[in-house]
Amino acid sequence: MIFARRRFGRDNYLYLLAEGGDAALVDPADPETALEVSRLHGVHPRWIVHTHGHADHSGGSARLREVLDAEVIGHGADGSWFRPDRDLAGEGELALGALRIGVHPAPGHTPGSVLLEWRGRLLTGDTLFWSGCGNCRHGGDPARLAETFRTVFPGLDPRLEVHPGHDYAEVNLAFVLEREPGNQAAAGRLSAVRAARAARVEPEATELGEEVLVNPFLRAGGNGPFVALRALRDAC
Ligand SMILES: [Zn+2]
Repeated sequence: MIFARRRFGRDNYLYLLAEGGDAALVDPADPETALEVSRLHGVHPRWIVHTHGHADHSGGSARLREVLDAEVIGHGADGSWFRPDRDLAGEGELALGALRIGVHPAPGHTPGSVLLEWRGRLLTGDTLFWSGCGNCRHGGDPARLAETFRTVFPGLDPRLEVHPGHDYAEVNLAFVLEREPGNQAAAGRLSAVRAARAARVEPEATELGEEVLVNPFLRAGGNGPFVALRALRDAC
């Protein structure tokens, strides 16, 4: 079993998932980085799965589809951004060779955003970030995102590791601590991510249960307060 989270650009993450010889890339917008991590682990990914359609997640797919002869899989509602060979709308689980990836619809950041669950990990794309959530400026809808946060995350295992599409932890935690100066969990997490950056290593993933403590969007308590909080964060 292989699980790799790899940074590209300033703050983007792509992922490699493999079970035996069966491998999939998630959001490999940087083809060179995706091919390098695949080589490093000695696998040839045959599937490319997208959490959503934005180009900083799906922009490498056309090239990788050719280079790897891979199948591109994503939600048809985001199909205008990329060309899915297979629409995962309505699929609760993707069976890709030996890989079994759970799919949770999570509209809001985009209409076709999904969360991908695999072996105790939750790949959240731009829906849930460490200590924050995605904005809705490019085809999104804050009310739908609020509904996703109110109805989807509470039903998931709190022990799931959160693996997002970007690392915005430091700037998100600054926003959290401005509003919640007494939040010890958020202060501790900020120290940890700063220490990781200083040591040039990637931050540890949080667990979903821990995210609730450091992420006010997970405890906004309703669609109205969520949308208001999102608007405040947008104004930063
Ligand atoms: Zn996005």
